[in-house]
Amino acid sequence: MMFKSARFRIAVWFVIAILFISLLFSFVFYRAVARDLNSRYADIEIKIKNNIRGLEKVPPVLKTMLRNDLRFAKQRVIFILLLANGGIFLMSIFIGYFLAGRALYPIEEMVSEQDRFISDASHELRTPLTVIKTATEVALRDSSMSAKEARKILKDNLNDLAELEMLTERLLHLSRYNKGKKALKFEKLDLGAVAAKIFKKVKPLADTKNLEFNLKTETAFINADKISIEEMMLILIDNAIKYTAEKGIIFLEVLKEGRHATFKVTDTGPGISSHDLPYIFDRFYRADSSRARQGAKGFGLGLSVADKIAKLHGGNIKVDSSPKKGSVFKVILPLAR
Ligand code: ADP
Repeated sequence: MMFKSARFRIAVWFVIAILFISLLFSFVFYRAVARDLNSRYADIEIKIKNNIRGLEKVPPVLKTMLRNDLRFAKQRVIFILLLANGGIFLMSIFIGYFLAGRALYPIEEMVSEQDRFISDASHELRTPLTVIKTATEVALRDSSMSAKEARKILKDNLNDLAELEMLTERLLHLSRYNKGKKALKFEKLDLGAVAAKIFKKVKPLADTKNLEFNLKTETAFINADKISIEEMMLILIDNAIKYTAEKGIIFLEVLKEGRHATFKVTDTGPGISSHDLPYIFDRFYRADSSRARQGAKGFGLGLSVADKIAKLHGGNIKVDSSPKKGSVFKVILPLAR
């Protein structure tokens, strides 16, 4: 609705602008033509006088005829100009309406995409909020609750709150990365060194699940924003740890291949079915085979953030995964020159 009236208003302004230009042009054109006709008329009078011997002045009948011809010629010019302006007016209505529609289409898409995003985000926020609220209400009503039970509820609530915190953080980052490259601070950095740092940071988490966690890197300089590259690595490694069952294997690699640096995370987790594979980078998408998830928490935002980061760096993420065989996530980034 909003866009329909905007389209109409843009079209009206377009028509006004075109009509203004065409009327101005017609006015200037008419002035020039009229001046030309006047001087031709004067020329004809002089020629008649000069060519017919003994003629003192042009006879009034001839003069009236010439004047009528002149007026007629001017009227014809005005008529043609009015016709042309009418045509331009009609055409500009159609063209204006069409162009306004074309110009508004991407904006319309963007707004509806944003609406979808807000509604998805609110939806995701609501579930944990309801859980926390219900748990707190039930606890408050139970006057005979022991301190131990109360602590248990507080602990559960705290877990849910941590999840909410994570969700809001992801949403904030997503909106920051949506602003494009200006949200980033590019510097030359060694992808291998960044991976080694993140490896150390996440090792304790992998240990709690008894995972075999390995790293192999080589020096590969890229032009990148350090914080977002670290975030991207954390998202991919976090997923690998989250979805891989105890005693599984996770392998991190940084390789230099041609003009590209590759960051690779290989896991022996449940893999992703070909049915889910095309969608895992979509916002809020979670593969819902319960076996694949194993109760892993998340909001389906990690990979969309990671993908955005890779793209902002002129790279992309490829996945090779099939059920039971595990997954390989490969981030390919251009090397610094
Ligand atoms: P989240 O992990 O929060 O659900 P992501 O965007 O990070 O969201 O991932 C989207 C979906 O892709 C996950 O729900 C999961 O089904 C699948 N996925 C991602 N990484 C892996 C992995 N290493 N192994 C198996 N499935 C994965």
